Amino acid sequence: MLVKGVVFYLESDLPVEARHLLEDFRLAVNNAIRAGLRARVTSRNALNKLAYKDFRREHPRMYSQHLVSAFEVAGSVLKNHRKCFRKGVTGRVPFVKRLMMKAENQAYRLNRKSGVIDLPIRAGCHVELKLVVSQYHRKYLDDMALSLGSLTILPDRVVVAFRKDAPKAFVPESALSLDTNERSLDGVFVEGDGAKAVKAEFPDVALIQQRHHDRRRRLQKKKAFDRRISRKLCRREGAREHRRINYRLHQVANSVLKFAEERKSAIVLEDLKGFKSKRSKELNRRLSVWPRRKLHQIIEYKAQWKGIPVVKVDPRNSSRTCPICGRMQHSRMGAEFKCECGWHLDRHINASINLLQTAISKGMAGGLRFNPGAFQHDVMMILYEPAMAARSELNGTSGIVGVT
Ligand SMILES: [Zn+2]
Repeated sequence: MLVKGVVFYLESDLPVEARHLLEDFRLAVNNAIRAGLRARVTSRNALNKLAYKDFRREHPRMYSQHLVSAFEVAGSVLKNHRKCFRKGVTGRVPFVKRLMMKAENQAYRLNRKSGVIDLPIRAGCHVELKLVVSQYHRKYLDDMALSLGSLTILPDRVVVAFRKDAPKAFVPESALSLDTNERSLDGVFVEGDGAKAVKAEFPDVALIQQRHHDRRRRLQKKKAFDRRISRKLCRREGAREHRRINYRLHQVANSVLKFAEERKSAIVLEDLKGFKSKRSKELNRRLSVWPRRKLHQIIEYKAQWKGIPVVKVDPRNSSRTCPICGRMQHSRMGAEFKCECGWHLDRHINASINLLQTAISKGMAGGLRFNPGAFQHDVMMILYEPAMAARSELNGTSGIVGVT
């Protein structure tokens, strides 16, 4: 089952009853967390047994479905806490600070035509939340193949989970193999007997990272006398950076997926899982890994939603192997890969060819083959470049979800 959370803003402020409900919900979550910690349990049922009666006594009129989902939220907080504890990170006693609540799909009703949520507060008291519905939102509301999952309510917005069964991936007729670099995806598109170089550039991601990194450093120095303020400002800086980078990564992913969907391509990516960064070295280097991982995550998840096959292969030696004769180069290369057999090509594109060949040899790319002789050195297809990012439509989803 695939789930996609879609953010909706409300047409007016949250009704006061709903606000009180959020406060009660938070109270229930935090009570359950404390009870769970004392009794060392984390499952929803155990928490239910433990905390239900007491909370019921204090809040006799709260809708019981909401109470149950508060225990679920508490359970997941406790599980995270336990995981951290096991890893040796001893945090404080966890508690939920932000106002929020979660309602399972039986505990609310959404009129998909009018965009009005009917939320029960307690017996005999319901509130209506009118959602701001844009064209982007319509796509999800009108698609009856999507069922409704949980609803998360925040003071200024709600998140509706839409669910569907994962569609079966199509049988690929071509392949798009991509080597992921700090500033671009470089690769090869193979269709029939032809092969062309492709590129999707995102140079501003590294720029944004660098800029925010410098800014954080400066903040730390400037606010060295007050760690609390320094931490707060740095966190804010970090959130801003993530938002800006995410926006760009979604744009890149959307163009790659559009291309793959139109040409029925399998997407081949390197498996970044084993990618270890040397911790003690430059902070810069460590910072630059997450956007690439994030980009893969976005591509994989969106591909799944659309039924586009994605193949991940071990990238070991992919940047120093010759795809023609198999020789391995030991010295570090410049921008171009050169081999004694005469083969030479852009280093990144060469790596993507090796990724593709690994995928083919493992039978992961259907019946596709790759003929290096058919590689057209002089053709470069641009999947994405920053100029294409001219902000098309602000869709009220904090810029995270791009327009497809
Ligand atoms: Zn060679």
